[in-house]
Amino acid sequence: MSTLTVQLGERSYPIHIGRGLLHRAGELLKERGIAQKSPLLIVSDENVAGFYLATLESNLQASGYKTVSFVVKPGETSKSLAVFEQVITAAIEGGLDRNSAVIALGGGVVGDLAGFVAASYMRGVKFVQIPTTILAHDSSVGGKVGINHPLAKNMIGAFHQPELVLYDVDTLSTLPPREVSAGLAEMIKHGLIWDADFAQWCRDHATDLLALDATALEYGLEKGCSVKAEVVSRDERENDLRAILNLGHTIGHAIEAIAGYGEFLHGEAISIGMVGSALLGVKLGADPSLVDETKDMLSSLRLPTSLPSHLDTDRLLDAMMHDKKFKEGSITFVVPRSIGHVEVVKDISVSYIRRVIEQLK
Ligand code: NAD
Ligand code: ZN
Repeated sequence: MSTLTVQLGERSYPIHIGRGLLHRAGELLKERGIAQKSPLLIVSDENVAGFYLATLESNLQASGYKTVSFVVKPGETSKSLAVFEQVITAAIEGGLDRNSAVIALGGGVVGDLAGFVAASYMRGVKFVQIPTTILAHDSSVGGKVGINHPLAKNMIGAFHQPELVLYDVDTLSTLPPREVSAGLAEMIKHGLIWDADFAQWCRDHATDLLALDATALEYGLEKGCSVKAEVVSRDERENDLRAILNLGHTIGHAIEAIAGYGEFLHGEAISIGMVGSALLGVKLGADPSLVDETKDMLSSLRLPTSLPSHLDTDRLLDAMMHDKKFKEGSITFVVPRSIGHVEVVKDISVSYIRRVIEQLK
């Protein structure tokens, strides 16, 4: 097991990463001072619960914890006000008090939902994350929790840091292969924005990562979390530095918005977006080899690097205009200068972006 300490302002919390941690959950919660007298609420989704909920419950109960579990449907639709209310109801009925903790056992969806319950229930109780997707390494750092409004994604939320994160890499063995690659897109993004050596390491260990080799995952997740922690701790409240975490996301979100439901996973969409950003980087002066290098890294992780031609350029541009990064005829973009170095560039004109999108096809 390796442990990374995330320091944000006055507070810090550990992210334990390793094998078999689900079987040590009770011990690790106790070590972190999570009260045994107050019930714990475990939130999970049907897929994850089928594999891991019983193991977690029995381990926690064997350590003297009382647990209540609430299982939601898999997928983004569970990040809703209606499901939020159901989880709060489960917390009240389960007798959770101010010393209780809410545990998220699942991917980013469960993490965001359970985290928001933890942030709001009785004005805030402790939150423990047990991420079961690779993508969720991204959501385990930074403290953003929340749900969607029918009119906009992630519109309702809070900042609520976890007490502790337990990343049991054994749980990743049941992830569908597309979810593995999509999670690796966010992992390599942390290299592309901050650490060229780490991006190259992901490229060199692509086969191990795709095969879910525990040693490679442990290193990659720790490094990904530590880059995010470094960026966030320098800029906890989202201004310029934190914006670099959005590499590939302006185009990626537009792809997600206009493509049919389920056509692209988030990680796949931002992979194409990161290639688009590299194309823009070259237009703004980066070495032309940046595009092929970026494509090579992403395709080694079995990620898409071009846009299917049926996605309409005007509709994509239109979706970007509705993104929060759009202001008066120009867009703010995270632009790579070289692998490992990016810059936030304001006022990029829409005609530039149009050319990038055409090149991506
Ligand atoms: P997810 O939670 O929907 O999980 C993806 C799919 O994999 C689901 O069907 C789930 O049931 C299944 N699954 C999860 N773990 C599994 C396992 N171990 N074995 C088998 N199946 C498993 O999606 P995600 O990609 O983890 O997260 C996406 C969400 O995260 C989005 O809602 C996004 O907004 C949010 N997010 C939040 C932050 C943040 O900072 N808070 C950052 C990035 C993403
Ligand atoms: Zn993302």
